[in-house]
Amino acid sequence: MKDMEEKVEKLVIIGSGPAGLTAAIYGSRADLEPLVFMGTKYGGQLMLTSEVENFPGFPDPVLGPDLISRMKSQAEKLGARLVQDDVVRVNFRTHPFEVYTSPGVTRALSVIIATGANPRRLNLRSEMKLMGKGVSNCAVCDGFFFRGKKVAVVGGGDTAMEEATFLTKFASSVQVIHRRDELRASAALKKEAFANPKISFIWDSAVTDVIGDGKVQGVRTRNLKTGDEGELQVDGVFVAIGYDPNTEIFRGEVDLDSKGYVALHNGTESSVPGVFVAGDVHDFRYRQAITAAADGCKALLDAEKFVKQKLEVKIAN
Ligand code: NAP
Repeated sequence: MKDMEEKVEKLVIIGSGPAGLTAAIYGSRADLEPLVFMGTKYGGQLMLTSEVENFPGFPDPVLGPDLISRMKSQAEKLGARLVQDDVVRVNFRTHPFEVYTSPGVTRALSVIIATGANPRRLNLRSEMKLMGKGVSNCAVCDGFFFRGKKVAVVGGGDTAMEEATFLTKFASSVQVIHRRDELRASAALKKEAFANPKISFIWDSAVTDVIGDGKVQGVRTRNLKTGDEGELQVDGVFVAIGYDPNTEIFRGEVDLDSKGYVALHNGTESSVPGVFVAGDVHDFRYRQAITAAADGCKALLDAEKFVKQKLEVKIAN
């Protein structure tokens, strides 16, 4: 493995969604000369989103990938170095920190973790084919497009109940499809959903297929107790069956919470001083492009202070 020992980066950013790229934009302007490991599949969840209507500054809808491309250009224009390598391992038990990619090891005074989270999938080919064409993982992002339409929400947790309730602002009906006959969601969210006349429940059922050619027209379901098959006509399917944070490479290096998200200790700092965190990799609650971007800014401001102190100590010595 190539050793780039001669050079110590001031800041390495891992991840290239709105959190990582905002940190890169701010980091460039703060003269931290950020090196961003974007990953081979760069851009995060926005790359799977169609139109974004709620990102400030874009009165006309912008496509998710276009928004990422603009953020990338802005970061590059300001001097950030963006590379498409995947980080395979980190060592935060030494300082400067070590970040391993296939070309070699990079040493850094500070690191921002912005690797995001992946929404869990039903693992249906039709789900992926119709993603952004009626299949969505985000009611706040896409609910608006379903005014007066029928939608289904898959899942029985807090997210599913929040999404179902939110969607009733726009949709004419919301059918929640859950694989058991009992919700996992908290009492308050359950109560709210049960009390909403627009929400109905299909229990003990799995979605076996999303129907539609170019856009969603319905779903096929199977009752897991009786085996009965059913078909539901809907214009949208919101898959809300949880998220998996991308934290595998950080296990044992920073504290993770019980669900695998990076735990914050001090502002945006992880359990390791000098390693900061931004976006969905720690935030399972808000999960918006704009909140991730704001997080990236906050993490950078914290990293900037940390690096400044390190450099001052180095000069004093
Ligand atoms: P979650 O709690 O893991 O719930 C996922 C739901 O999807 C469960 O009902 C699960 O069914 C179902 N599910 C999982 N895999 C499935 C599959 N392959 N096919 C069909 N159904 C499947 O995830 P979440 O609702 O996204 O919440 C994540 C965390 O964020 C939780 O700790 C939650 O409390 C928190 N959160 C809090 C708020 C809030 O406080 N306002 C809002 C959102 C989320 P089973 O029930 O059968 O396992």
